[in-house]
Amino acid sequence: MDSTAKKDIRKFTLEQLEEFFIEKGEKKFRAKQVYEWLWNKSLKNFDDMSNISKETREMLKANFIINHIHVDLMQHSADGTIKNAVKLFDSKIVESVLIPTSKRITACVSSQVGCSLDCNFCATARLKRMRNLNPDEIYDQVVAIKEEAETYFNRPLTNIVFMGMGEPLLNYANVIEAIDKITSPEGLGMAARRITLSTVGIPKMIKKMADDEVKFNLAISLHSAINETRSRLMPINDVNPLEDLAEALKYWYQKTKRKVTYEYVIWDGINDNEEHARALAKFCKIIPSKVNIIQYNPIDEGEFRQASREAVEMYVRILENNGIIAKVRKSRGQDIDAACGQLANKNEVAQLES
Ligand code: SAH
Repeated sequence: MDSTAKKDIRKFTLEQLEEFFIEKGEKKFRAKQVYEWLWNKSLKNFDDMSNISKETREMLKANFIINHIHVDLMQHSADGTIKNAVKLFDSKIVESVLIPTSKRITACVSSQVGCSLDCNFCATARLKRMRNLNPDEIYDQVVAIKEEAETYFNRPLTNIVFMGMGEPLLNYANVIEAIDKITSPEGLGMAARRITLSTVGIPKMIKKMADDEVKFNLAISLHSAINETRSRLMPINDVNPLEDLAEALKYWYQKTKRKVTYEYVIWDGINDNEEHARALAKFCKIIPSKVNIIQYNPIDEGEFRQASREAVEMYVRILENNGIIAKVRKSRGQDIDAACGQLANKNEVAQLES
């Protein structure tokens, strides 16, 4: 730490802060106290660190800043869902969502500003990718939702899903660092099994996660188990076809012994026939898995329409006949554009256009 420019203190590990404190002639344990204020208590100002002397706080202020997200706009849905538009230090905006059910309160967080994958049915894809989120920016989204869960529902946050904006496996190191903080006692102390990372399915990165022995859950946005259809929906499938995904999933299961969840939307005229349902059932047998059938949330007047109830029932029947658990998920927060695939900074765009 020799540069004179002020650095974001949350970029430093506890060990690095301890070294810094010793260098400055401070007691080493003070670093841990500061670290806990920064992470466990999520303080935004050095002056609020009540067990740190004024002198030390001034020294910290002279050397560091604390970058913190700011919830710019909070929208409440009629069904209880809350959407946060979160402003980052460089004024970029991402969205995160609080999803309440009778048993759980789930935080749905973003991992990138925009997204580089061009999934045809997803509103975030229209934004393109602007940048990766830093670990603290991911962590802060969770903290904001945890506080809202306590304030508005008087209940604790129970689950976290990486299903907001962006592709978490294309920002792997930062996502892992954020999860480490979320699960560590110096951070939020949440159990890794309460966390689910959702991905379009990048085989190389799935194998890396298996090698890294991650303890959180894996969900794959599958949407079709037929290459031709999947490539049409998700261009990433051209370079990473289902065969490669299947191989990576086998590797994942061998190493982790953990089930995977497939997220699946059924669209009218695209994947709503028996051939597609049977292909999905077959794919589901590659490793132990379950299926979440999610409702399509229209993003514009485009080519995509939710399939009929009969088609959804046909899928459930075929999956169940093959011994696969399938849940049909109701969409939440549609009235505030907070549902899957609807996160697109609409309010910011509206502001820019007005
Ligand atoms: N990039 C990751 C994280 C985004 S998660 C991933 O793809 O998994 C968002 C989830 O919502 C994904 O399963 C995605 O396929 C789904 N989704 C995207 N647009 C949607 C829409 N319009 N309606 C319903 N689900 C959608």
